[in-house]
Amino acid sequence: MKYLRGYMKILRCLLLFCLSTGLATAQEKAPALQPVTVIRAGTLIDGKSDAPRRDQEIVIRGNRIDSVSDAASAKIPAGATVIDLSRATVLPGLIDSHTHIFLQGEDPAQGGYDANILKYPLALRAARATVSVRRALEQGFTTLRDVETEGAGYGDVGIKQAIEGGYIPGPRLFVSTLAISATGGYPLEDYAPELEMPKGVQIIDGPVEARKAAREQLSHGADWIKVYMTHRSWVGKNGELVSQPTLTVEELKAIVDETHGWGKKVACHAYSGIGLHRALDGGCDSIEHGLDLDDTAIAQMLKQGTWYCPTLSAYYHDWAPADTPMGQRDRKRVSVHIPSFQKAMRAGVKIVFGTDMGGIPWTEPMAQEFLRMVEFGMTPMDAIKSATSRAAEMLDMEGQIGVVAPGAYADIVAVGGDPLRDIKTLENVQFVMKNGKVFKQ
Ligand SMILES: [Zn+2]
Repeated sequence: MKYLRGYMKILRCLLLFCLSTGLATAQEKAPALQPVTVIRAGTLIDGKSDAPRRDQEIVIRGNRIDSVSDAASAKIPAGATVIDLSRATVLPGLIDSHTHIFLQGEDPAQGGYDANILKYPLALRAARATVSVRRALEQGFTTLRDVETEGAGYGDVGIKQAIEGGYIPGPRLFVSTLAISATGGYPLEDYAPELEMPKGVQIIDGPVEARKAAREQLSHGADWIKVYMTHRSWVGKNGELVSQPTLTVEELKAIVDETHGWGKKVACHAYSGIGLHRALDGGCDSIEHGLDLDDTAIAQMLKQGTWYCPTLSAYYHDWAPADTPMGQRDRKRVSVHIPSFQKAMRAGVKIVFGTDMGGIPWTEPMAQEFLRMVEFGMTPMDAIKSATSRAAEMLDMEGQIGVVAPGAYADIVAVGGDPLRDIKTLENVQFVMKNGKVFKQ
């Protein structure tokens, strides 16, 4: 009898389930009453094409782009809201592939990085992260790949939920939660060895712990796994940039294998030398920073289709005095980074735009990275693509974001001037639509 009641209960549940899915399908089939918006674009840089187009009409239904056509021949659908950007340049919402919403450009005078972890309640850090994501959206960045919370646990998953739930404004987030490094491979450090200090990442040693950490992070909502393959850096005996390697190839392979099994990707912080080569041998999907890329590394990136997120601007901040070892290192980093970026670009390595905001205070303009990319030889159009369609490709969101084309999410921004003539105009985004909703006008 007891069992029979159990069976009846299961049957009832199944029946309810079938009914509810049936209803859902019926609702999807019914023509939904979605608001229609039309944007008149004076110039359209669609994120994918090599040349801009003049006088375009973009029709948006709900949260998706329905059509893009010449304004002269297009008809405005009945009942549509018209947004006139006929004197502006319209672009896809921008994508920053390297941010830290839980960092605030920590000022050494206020305790620096360590104070964040040792003194600030998580709620304070979350409140400040809320401001970070809002700042990003205000500047036209409708998508961020946030590459670890720096000791704020799974806070990024929470902020992402708050944005998706409509509680706070912010970009689409691809989050990587805790990040992974090895013993001796991340702060907090330089405290008395007797003290068990908290760390800004999850520390692993050995392939078993490495795989377990990846499993934990993926099961708690990581969209990407972030790994530190190098840690401290300094100027070596022969004047070269040396960076301390962290994980072994075997440890990284365990993480990459696990993460790829979940259909996700691995981003590797790697500066140069042994750690950089281990990152590539271990199968990393994107190299972060890549300050000193030798020819072997570039050839391997091309062969494996590895993405390169250089974050050029981050290394121009907070230089120590020139006559100190740290000051020499700071200058060395920049002097090898520029030729690495140029070599990679000429060789055809896939480059994405990343700022390392958080390392840089969120009060600074994110678009400064565009200025550096162009200054070091990238065309303005390629720089824009690195923050739109190219980044979308890396995020497995090709055609969904980073492009103004039918079927894509309506993430659209506009600037007053011509960014192809003056890239600095991207510092002044005047219109922001995310997911079909106007956020800034
Ligand atoms: Zn970073």
